Amino acid sequence: MSRLPDPLHADTLHADTAAVHGGIQRSQFEETAEALYLTSGYVYGSAEEAAEAFDGACERYIYSRYGNPTVQMFIDRLCAIEGAEAGAATASGMSAVFTALLGLLRKGDRLVGSRALFGSCAHICSHILPRYGIETELIDGNDLAAWEQALARPAKAVFLETPTNPQLDIIDLKAVSALAHAAGAEVVIDNVFATPLLQKPLELGADIVVYSATKHIDGQGRCLGGAILGSRQFCDEALQPFIRHTGPSMSPFNAWILLKGLETLVVRVERQCRTAMEVARWLEGQAGVRRVIYPFLDSHPQAALARRQMRAGGTVVTFEIEGGRPEAFALLNALRLIPISNNLGDAKSLATHPASTTHHRIGAEGRAAVGIGEDMIRLSLGLEHPEDLIRDLNRAGVGNGADHREV
Ligand SMILES: *Cc1c(COP(=O)(O)O)cnc(C)c1O
Repeated sequence: MSRLPDPLHADTLHADTAAVHGGIQRSQFEETAEALYLTSGYVYGSAEEAAEAFDGACERYIYSRYGNPTVQMFIDRLCAIEGAEAGAATASGMSAVFTALLGLLRKGDRLVGSRALFGSCAHICSHILPRYGIETELIDGNDLAAWEQALARPAKAVFLETPTNPQLDIIDLKAVSALAHAAGAEVVIDNVFATPLLQKPLELGADIVVYSATKHIDGQGRCLGGAILGSRQFCDEALQPFIRHTGPSMSPFNAWILLKGLETLVVRVERQCRTAMEVARWLEGQAGVRRVIYPFLDSHPQAALARRQMRAGGTVVTFEIEGGRPEAFALLNALRLIPISNNLGDAKSLATHPASTTHHRIGAEGRAAVGIGEDMIRLSLGLEHPEDLIRDLNRAGVGNGADHREV
């Protein structure tokens, strides 16, 4: 992977600044905005130069499955924001998860994970990894005693997400990382819900961070992408050879979109968190709402832990209504401004019924095990004015209708 020297020392910049300037490599045309290198291959001045490139004697781009300048700018910028030594970009969040785990694990290895995982992540752990002779055990991630018990035996990897989707449980990253390291495991965190701004897993003891860049990093519903961040050694020795030969590479076009997404990440996520807090507080007082879950509400059972390891509560609010599926569907169908969508982190606020969509596949028993009921609605907050969102929810039947105004 070609990597030119970083003239800005982006690792010393605040996230806000790194998000705008980090990783930029200007061409001979000295463009302001990051260039889109939409090329699959590269040319050589001589046969000797090509031979040197393949021999590893010189650092340069060879083929876009291995590396591409726009993709490299994206990953360098994300590393600067995260405070990670190195990273790799992938075609989707799921390819980031799969590549990180397969880069780490071999036949006979053992993975311990939290049960409350994004649906496809749970599928990889429960169904795909075991096919390759990797033993996996999923436990209640909220329960430190369960981690302790599972990690009393050696393991190679620990895998979890926090806050969890959609029930927004918080897992103690410091405590679990310490237990994992004692068991010989590397800690892989799916940090999508917290974003690179609200939670720094590497500072809390984790070894590898994965993102679905599809969510907040794009944040405007345009393309898929993923990223894996960690130590230079892991990236050079495990990740790059794996990616080079298996090809989960990110398209340069998507990298360019995501690079521009990073530029506005700080302002978007800050605003989305403020709106989420405001909507969560409003929901808490409303008739017909049984429970509101938001990590920074005082009523969250792990509010203190959330405040310790996160800088804000995130951009998603989950709530339970009085009633079940019919009432939840009626509410979603009555929304006019907020679309029904299983995506999240978008500029547009989005609402979904996890039990019948994102968590349909795991079955009623699986949902009960992670606390997802028919009465649960997940709301991803966007960039709209919070009053308009509250009015939409109120008009759709949340609360007593006292705030009823047409949106
Ligand atoms: C969306 C998501 C993924 C998967 O990402 P894709 O980009 O859709 O492949 C993984 N983990 C979490 C927590 C997610 O929200």
